[in-house]
This record gives sequence, C-alpha cells and structure tokens, in this order.
Amino acid sequence: MKTIILDGKATRDSLIPGLVERVKALSYVPTLAIIQVGDRPDSTAFIGAKKRFAQRIGVKEKHIQTTESISQGELLDIIKECNADGGIHGIIVQLPLPIHLDRDAIINAIDPKKDVDALTAFSVKRWYEGREDAILPATARGIRTLLEAYKIELFGKKVTVIGRSMLVGKPVITMCLNEEATVTVCHSKTKDLAKETKSADIVIVAVGKPGLITAKHVKKGQVIVDVGINKVTGEKLDDEIEGARLVGDVDFKKVAKKVSAITPVPGGVGPMTVYSLFENLVDLCTGRV
Ligand code: NAD
Repeated sequence: MKTIILDGKATRDSLIPGLVERVKALSYVPTLAIIQVGDRPDSTAFIGAKKRFAQRIGVKEKHIQTTESISQGELLDIIKECNADGGIHGIIVQLPLPIHLDRDAIINAIDPKKDVDALTAFSVKRWYEGREDAILPATARGIRTLLEAYKIELFGKKVTVIGRSMLVGKPVITMCLNEEATVTVCHSKTKDLAKETKSADIVIVAVGKPGLITAKHVKKGQVIVDVGINKVTGEKLDDEIEGARLVGDVDFKKVAKKVSAITPVPGGVGPMTVYSLFENLVDLCTGRV
C-alpha cells in the first residue's frame, strides 16, 4: 500500500480561506505583537514565517526587537505596555530567551487574554484540564488539525510521544490524552525506544535529533508525526528533499517505506504550527478566554 504523506502545507492552504473569513468578521484588524530578545537567526527565521502568514490572512504584526542584554525589568515593562495597549490583541515572546532572563516570570507577565502561545500558568492549567475554552499551544493544535484533515483518529489509539518539553511534548501528550488516546511518553532516559515506538499506532516525535527514528523503530501500518526541525548539511543525512537543509527527527526515506502515513520535514507540522498560532489569535479575539 502507498504511504500517505501528511502534507501540512496543502492542509494549511485549504484551511486559510476559513481563517480569513473569521478575521474579516471581526470589527477590527487583529494585531500580534512578537517580542524578540537578541537576534538569533533561528528565531528570526521563525518570526519571518509568522510575519508572512499574518500578511497572508490580513492580520497586523508588530515586531518588537530588543538587545540581547535587556534586563528583566525592561522586558517586563515592554510586556506590560503590550498588555495595556488596546490595539494589540496577541503577544508572543519568541523563545528561547537568554539565560539571564527568568523565562517563567516573563511568560507569566503576558495577559492570558493575549496569550497566543498558551504558555502562561493560567493557559497551561486550562489545556491541561482539557477545557473547551482552553487555548492549546500551536504545535499540538496543528498536529490535531492535520490528523483530523486526513481522518486519522486519536480516539482509542495507542500513541507514543517522544519528547516532554513544555513547549511541544507536554502539550502534545495532553492533547492526545484529551482526545482519548492511550499515551506512552518517551524521553532522553527511556531505555528501549524501539520497543515503545513499535507498540504504538501513532508515533509523535519532538526531540531535535536528526535520524533518531529509523526503520528499526517502526512497523507496518503506523502513522508517524515528525515535529523535529534540524538544520543539517546535505551530505550528513539521507535527506528526503534534495538540497534541503532542514530535516526532522525521522529518517524519512527508510521509515516512509514501512509506515502507512508520515509527515515530511519541511512541509509537515511546521506550516500547521504557524496556522494554529493564528487560529489561537483569532480565538482570543473572539473572546475564547
Ligand atoms: P527540547 O530540547 O526542549 O526537548 C527535547 C525533548 O527530547 C526532551 O524532552 C528530551 O527528554 C527528549 N530527548 C532528548 N534526547 C532524546 C533521545 N535520545 N531519545 C528520546 N528523547 C530524547 O526541544 P523542543 O522545544 O521540545 O523541540 C523539539 C523539536 O521540535 C526541535 O527540533 C524543535 O526545533 C522542533 N519544533 C518544531 C516545531 C514545529 O512546528 N514543527 C515547533 C516547535 C519545536
């Protein structure tokens, strides 16, 4: 049987008109503030993708870039200003932050009504509880939407999630539980990764290690969702897209031969994450929180 490529770009594109309609239905043009500390090239690239998408759906963005050495107090003041500004409807603090800053305190300073990333303690409690009115972090939401688009149900399935970060792993684990999946969680201390991945119907990997999941980790008929984004030089890996410098955590070519469906990198979870971030913004604008 032919392997289905879970195409995040095509899925995103098919959903954009609906999101544009929701933006147009608002009585104002939503504005997303993106706060960047320093000038990490990866952060700049991710912010660029968000800006392009904002433009595509008719949302304004305000990119606030500070020096790397900004103090905790100065950064908190910027967030307070954004919270108080009625012309700003969503706030993102681009992670990671330099180590001299207290990430939790910074994130928790965001007004939950503008918390597009859903990482404040207020938002985390809501999605952890699986509340209807929760805003779900964008990567988890994007994966759910992508699987739905391909009619791949989580309900009752055995899902192995690899990775347990607050940004990706934990929201994905929680989302799967809330969708009634039976979830196994693997991480850097897991002893026999292949045993845990092979026993699943769906494997979601969010680690950041190219080639972590190989043919020996998968079996026929599984669905593989690769969240990883890794920059590599062409020769290093058996790269699936000629000339591409981004790869996931999965050895795509070898794994795709065995499984029933798989996300590519790039073009899988990444585009869905950006889409879902703006769904979150529109949800906040329509009073979700
Ligand atoms: P992180 O470094 O915070 O977490 C990595 C997780 O992987 C940890 O929980 C760790 O325990 C686990 N891990 C490390 N080595 C392992 C191993 N050998 N076996 C099993 N588990 C192991 O990273 P993160 O922020 O969660 O991001 C993970 C990946 O997802 C990165 O490549 C990141 O770039 C990517 N990402 C992609 C998107 C997207 O939209 N596609 C969004 C966010 C992050």
